[in-house]
Amino acid sequence: GSVMEKVLQRRSLQMRNMQRAWLESPEGRKMLDFRKSLPSFQEKERLLQAIARNQVIVISGETGCGKTTQLPQYILESEIESGRGAFCSIICTQPRRISAMAVAERVSAERGESLGESVGYKVRLEGVKGKNTHLLFCTSGILLRRLLSDRNLNGITHVFVDEIHERGMNEDFLLIVLKDLLPRRRDLRLILMSATLNAELFSNYFGGAPTIHIPGFAHPVKAHFLEDVLEMTGYKLTSFNQIDDYGQEKVWKTQRQLVPRKRKNQITALVEDALPKSKFENYSSRARDSLASWTPDCIGFNLIEAVLCHICRKERPGAVLLFMTGWEDISCLRDQLKAHPLLGDPNRVLVLTCHGSMATSEQKLIFEKPPPNVRKIVLATNMAEASITINDVVFVVDCGKAKETTYDALNNTPCLLPSWISQASARQRRGRAGRVQPGECYHLYPRCVYEAFAEYQLPELLRTPLNSLCLQIKGLLVGSIGDFLSAALQPPEPLAFRINAKNLSVSPMVAEIPATIVPKYDILMPVILLVQNAVDFLKMIGALDEKENLTNLGKYLSMLPVDPKLGKMLVMGAIFRCFDPILTIVSGLSVRDPFLLPQEKKDLAGVAKSRFSAKDYSDHMALVRAYEGWKDAEREGSAYEYCWRNFLSAQTLQAIHSLRKQFNFILRDAGLLDEDGGTNNKLSHNQALVRAIICSGLFPGIASVVHRETSMSFKTMDDGQVFLYANSVNARYQTIPYPWLVFGEKVKVNTVFIRDSTGISDSILILFGGALSCGVQAGHLKMLDGYVDFFMDPSMAECYLKLKEELDKLLHK
Ligand code: ADP
Ligand code: MG
Repeated sequence: GSVMEKVLQRRSLQMRNMQRAWLESPEGRKMLDFRKSLPSFQEKERLLQAIARNQVIVISGETGCGKTTQLPQYILESEIESGRGAFCSIICTQPRRISAMAVAERVSAERGESLGESVGYKVRLEGVKGKNTHLLFCTSGILLRRLLSDRNLNGITHVFVDEIHERGMNEDFLLIVLKDLLPRRRDLRLILMSATLNAELFSNYFGGAPTIHIPGFAHPVKAHFLEDVLEMTGYKLTSFNQIDDYGQEKVWKTQRQLVPRKRKNQITALVEDALPKSKFENYSSRARDSLASWTPDCIGFNLIEAVLCHICRKERPGAVLLFMTGWEDISCLRDQLKAHPLLGDPNRVLVLTCHGSMATSEQKLIFEKPPPNVRKIVLATNMAEASITINDVVFVVDCGKAKETTYDALNNTPCLLPSWISQASARQRRGRAGRVQPGECYHLYPRCVYEAFAEYQLPELLRTPLNSLCLQIKGLLVGSIGDFLSAALQPPEPLAFRINAKNLSVSPMVAEIPATIVPKYDILMPVILLVQNAVDFLKMIGALDEKENLTNLGKYLSMLPVDPKLGKMLVMGAIFRCFDPILTIVSGLSVRDPFLLPQEKKDLAGVAKSRFSAKDYSDHMALVRAYEGWKDAEREGSAYEYCWRNFLSAQTLQAIHSLRKQFNFILRDAGLLDEDGGTNNKLSHNQALVRAIICSGLFPGIASVVHRETSMSFKTMDDGQVFLYANSVNARYQTIPYPWLVFGEKVKVNTVFIRDSTGISDSILILFGGALSCGVQAGHLKMLDGYVDFFMDPSMAECYLKLKEELDKLLHK
């Protein structure tokens, strides 16, 4: 004890000397001057005191005011300065890996160190951290995993949970676990950081924790709503649904009549049924009516053009940031603008795009100053809302919608649909115009529609499948999942989730309403349904037993940092001795698709991908071949050409490669792999078996293949007809010689699409679909059609039975 203490004291003194030397050096002083200019510096002393006196505090302050880079650093600095540097250990979580890495890098630079000295980071697959690291930036997922094995966070002195306003699932989950931990670790400090002012919710959750707001340095931004925009631009809405020639001043008065009375009553009845009275009364009746009848699709690109022209002609210099729903809209508009006499003139206007899949070179242009007298216009998705800051923006145009991932719990289908943003997002978008000088924001929807927006976006916890979360909760051994979740920030009573009414295929009344006139409603759904779906799923794959306790398989799955069904595929691959291909497939599915699909070369890319499929009828096996081809090419030093020729992302393949290593390590550690590796791949060459293991993981993602004379269609039990993604290899065949396709993911985008798929036979489905815990007897095997087909020879069948016994033991031990 005391020897250790002495070592740490010595180390603390060294740290203090180093810190002082840096702060006194010319570069250090320059850096400090910059840091002092940030709004958070004004609050430094108050913050440090509040943190010293309270176990939990909540801090809010606008994006860019210095929360993430400064606050954890203040603690570190003050601990070092007071000679306790080596005794403190600070963790700061980020929702995204990219920000954890970038922030750690920045803070190291501000301290005049390189990454991995006193500041480090850890994200899945990667990390830089040394033995003297005392401030660690990590993803919230990483901290959750740590809590699984280190329930008390021993040795940690401060935990910052950042960006809590986003209400990400991991952050909400973390808060439940940390709240439970605080009484056991009286010395631990918890600091919550948020970019918006809803600190109260969090403060109440922690029994009235003090809140501190950092006043921003943003300039005022004037908000114009559609009524103002129409007046300003002189734009006439010529088509408003079927009704032509609207006088602009009449639009808002008469638009209600657009919805036939009967239909409107149906909508109102639907809303009234679904919302509890109190909440319903919060909506002013005017706003409610407008929301019901307002259709965004009538704001065509022409209105956007009119607004952009107005800015270019009449307004002061400054860049324009336009928020649209998605990449499709952005590229359509960009093409339309090219033909415009003013907006398409490169000597006067520079049109750039900003979205998730843009190339790095393009990304740089966004931040650069345009040539003199050229106006920069950036067409962006909601990525530019908070995670990216373009400094010279003076004008924001906001279309009011974003693509949101929701989850239709009734039909158990994730959806990706454009929906109205929240008031908080609208304000955030507006704020982007005030970085350097007073700005203007044009919201392309009426003010009354804005007033009817939800205040905040729905927490992720309430709009995603909870399979992984429930499994992790079980891994924490905290009894009933329902009880646990009732301790969440917004517990079950108001727990309700919003889905787009048009997804409610169960209700014929709703289905009849054209999609364009049904905006987002709050349809209340007890969270029970969310949890029940997850529990049913975990039981079905054999991770939970009848009494909802973790099975042995479940224990392995809760240790693996992947979706439980992919985890199961890994375990099965190990037990059935065809580990290598399965390892590649699971790694690929949990990183992202390495097959690129450039908008302009879709066809070529599709052809390139199908070359990897041969006659496999499997996207998953195409992935395996592509990966193996890349390994070979790497060995020969031609990886670059290989990727280029085949439309593959080298970066993604590299990430798959590292994830493979990590899974390999975890499974070896868990004793599921043969140590010397001799038998792990004994059966990897057996394609039928590999298909079977894919099925065992992805079940119940099954679609039947329906052949008609000239065409082929696909059906699932829940959705009826579904469609294949255009770049699936199976979309290129005329016929598929398998009765079933097994798939990992389906998404509803108007209709239901399935992504990667693999053809399987009846016998595979019967033997490997489901929990596999109900015994399949040798007798059953022999009754199956295609049984010999599947196993090639009878000795394989014996092998199956023997291995299955092993599996049963694993499940029930
Ligand atoms: P917040 O977390 O409140 O949004 P940050 O702490 O991330 O703010 O950033 C504070 C300020 O530090 C930013 O406004 C920016 O000026 C500066 N900054 C942050 N990251 C970097 C970076 N990588 N390079 C240069 N400056 C940065
Ligand atoms: Mg931040």
